[in-house]
Amino acid sequence: MTASQATPVAIVQQKEPELADSLVKHIYLSFDDGPLPGTSNCIDICTQQNVAATFFEVAFHESRSNYGKHLYQRILKNDRLFDIANHSFSHAFFGDYLDYYHQPDSALADFNKAKFILQPKNNLVRLPGNNAWNTQVEKRASGLVRPLVHKLDSTGYNVIGWDMEWHFNKSGRPVNSPEYIVSLADSLFFYNKTKTKNHLVILMHDVMFRAPADSVKLNTMITLLKQRPDFRFRKLTSYPNLKK
Ligand SMILES: [Zn+2]
Repeated sequence: MTASQATPVAIVQQKEPELADSLVKHIYLSFDDGPLPGTSNCIDICTQQNVAATFFEVAFHESRSNYGKHLYQRILKNDRLFDIANHSFSHAFFGDYLDYYHQPDSALADFNKAKFILQPKNNLVRLPGNNAWNTQVEKRASGLVRPLVHKLDSTGYNVIGWDMEWHFNKSGRPVNSPEYIVSLADSLFFYNKTKTKNHLVILMHDVMFRAPADSVKLNTMITLLKQRPDFRFRKLTSYPNLKK
């Protein structure tokens, strides 16, 4: 029988093997500070790999140019895989962290301004430069950011931090290898060192992956994580115990 005579076989999309809920390890990829150079590669790689991710966006970066708006639209369009979440308007008055956190009313207004511009379909926020948490269950805030976190909480926001970060150097390039990041993920799960058992939030920054050689590292990291049979990629809107 020639190839043309062969019975056509339906292309079935690869399905995740069924696994008892208690055995699943949830991975939340999160990319901060976009839209910026690098965002496009993050979108392309996650789309090609068919993995979920959350983009914590800076509204100033979105609203200042057509470039930012275009990237924002690309994320928005793929809402099966991606969530857009609020990472403030000015990223702490453009990097003045002490001033920002010492003025919690102004900082709250900065988040509300970003909400108005980004129109996120969720109530998730992440603080600029600070790993704070406030969901129904998870509470963590240093003295510096506590006044703002309380205000965000009473406004109905969930504050989402991270369990591990893929660090970058002064040139904005990834410091760690993809293999190191995956081994760190493995060990945090193994030793139950995540904020919520079996749920791991990974912080990255869009700009880290703007160079082709660095975007390959993101792709490698995701490929390695996908080889773990019990790992599942999720958007942060499905993180446990969020305030509605
Ligand atoms: Zn940031």
